[in-house]
Amino acid sequence: MSTLEIRDLRATVGGAEILAGIDLTVRSGEVHVVMGPNGAGKSTLAAVVMGKPGYEVTGGSVTLDGIDVLALPTWERAVAGLHLVMQYPTEVPGVMLDDVLTEALLGRGRATTDLDDLLVAEAERIGFEERFLHRPLNVDLSGGEKKRNETLQLAVLEPKIAILDELDSGLDIDALRDCARRVEALSNDAPAGGEPLGVLAITHYTRLLDELRPDRVHILAGGRIVESGGPELADQLEVDGYAAFTAGAGGVDDGGGADDPAAASASALGDLFAG
Ligand code: ADP
Ligand code: MG
Repeated sequence: MSTLEIRDLRATVGGAEILAGIDLTVRSGEVHVVMGPNGAGKSTLAAVVMGKPGYEVTGGSVTLDGIDVLALPTWERAVAGLHLVMQYPTEVPGVMLDDVLTEALLGRGRATTDLDDLLVAEAERIGFEERFLHRPLNVDLSGGEKKRNETLQLAVLEPKIAILDELDSGLDIDALRDCARRVEALSNDAPAGGEPLGVLAITHYTRLLDELRPDRVHILAGGRIVESGGPELADQLEVDGYAAFTAGAGGVDDGGGADDPAAASASALGDLFAG
């Protein structure tokens, strides 16, 4: 059993406090969903946990099975078992996907002998074209292909805990279903000798939750978790809007975040968050 423990995490960006004391615990096999309006600090939370430069941690702790994550460089956080699926996956010209995964597995002390077969099987399972396996990472792929690619990497690397920052942005409904289903399966089925994946999924659309079934739903507003509950909390949010939960939470932003505007009208919830 692995545990990611975030305790009273505080962080600033450019002198402004964006995370104002976050508490979250994610264990193997659990799916936690963090929902919140634009500018709430959702991507900042993902960035701080993975160690993206430019964010200053001003308090609190993040541990993975007792290891002080915040003391490690990003690559060591990944080797320790943390994995981030980025909202907008980066294109890396000249670096082949299969080479990336080979090096990543070697860096984790894992065998690569069956990698080719595994890649073909995973590509088929996630609906990712095999010819992309030997191409530069994400270069010229569509939004949906990039997210399938990220999900394939997640499945191959078998991290302990995955953070998904808006898995649902920039991809069509078929790709969303395939990716969300794969993540759900990873959270249910342990790899040989391992544990099922623990998931921290960041989103503002309940459509992700059709395939990725949350154990816990958390509402992030003003840099704090203002409410936590079961899956029914997402349904309640869809009806009541997040304003019902955020009165008095204090805002870090009036809502002008940089999220995908095309997707913002996809649901009633999206409309609420878009404002
Ligand atoms: P969310 O993902 O919930 O929409 P973010 O975490 O991206 O929100 O942003 C939270 C706040 O922090 C916003 O006001 C945003 O402008 C600010 N912010 C995030 N990253 C940076 C950065 N690198 N530089 C300056 N401001 C940032
Ligand atoms: Mg974001």
